[in-house]
Amino acid sequence: MSRRKQIYEGKAKILYEGPEPGTLVQYFKDDTTAFNAEKLEILDGKGVLNNRISEYVMLRLGEIGIPTHFIRRLNMREQLIKKVEIIPLEVICRNIAAGTMAKRLGIEEGEKLPRSIVEFCLKRDDLGDPLIAEEHIHAFGWAHPSEVDEIVAMTLRINDYLQGMFAGIGIKLVDFKIEFGRLHSELEGVMGHQIILADEISPDSCRLWDRETNEKMDKDRFRRDLGGVTEAYAEVATRLGILQPSGGPTPFSVIQGDKE
Ligand code: 5GP
Repeated sequence: MSRRKQIYEGKAKILYEGPEPGTLVQYFKDDTTAFNAEKLEILDGKGVLNNRISEYVMLRLGEIGIPTHFIRRLNMREQLIKKVEIIPLEVICRNIAAGTMAKRLGIEEGEKLPRSIVEFCLKRDDLGDPLIAEEHIHAFGWAHPSEVDEIVAMTLRINDYLQGMFAGIGIKLVDFKIEFGRLHSELEGVMGHQIILADEISPDSCRLWDRETNEKMDKDRFRRDLGGVTEAYAEVATRLGILQPSGGPTPFSVIQGDKE
């Protein structure tokens, strides 16, 4: 590993200063955490899979006009991204009741919601990322009301696209969490900014269920001690066409296009 300046270390990723101004290198770790890092394990190869899956999803979203921070994948575990000012919100979109929503509202897990629902949590690990209302976001100035409108519109568009993308490979998109950032730039001497999709989209941040069996193919396998976590992530990658079906126990050796 080169002597790059590390600027942030999160639970599953590290950010390093990028090679050009305005860029960062996002490194995907194998560390897997749940319940605000109370549960931690290192799952061999998970970072490699999430790097590839997130790259794939960001590229597809870019193709439909969603601005993202993704520039290009650098190697098995790293991607070059645009440096943004992260908006301190976790934006959750749900199609089927699960997780904290099912618990909070007493809805049976697996029940289809009347429509897709967007929720906001404050990005504060020390508080356990509490659920907040749009009112809090406006009142505390975490984002301007027009930014929140843009974020909701983009989230619903992302949800529509990803639901279709996953349906095409026999997977139900139950819910997911995304983050946004402000990309600052100067245009004709005036500073402005654009809201863009940041962070990652992977089985760490989505609930993905097999269409036929409802088998979980996401981080709930880790949270609920179901085992087979990286195998499930590899299955998602295989169905997306990122991995070749190997039939063997170590799918990582057959990842296409990796020379490193
Ligand atoms: P829940 O609120 O039900 O725990 O999570 C809803 C969705 O957001 C799930 O897909 C879950 O994986 C994702 N999510 C919620 N909080 C986090 C978080 O702190 N990190 C990640 N990676 N995903 C999260």
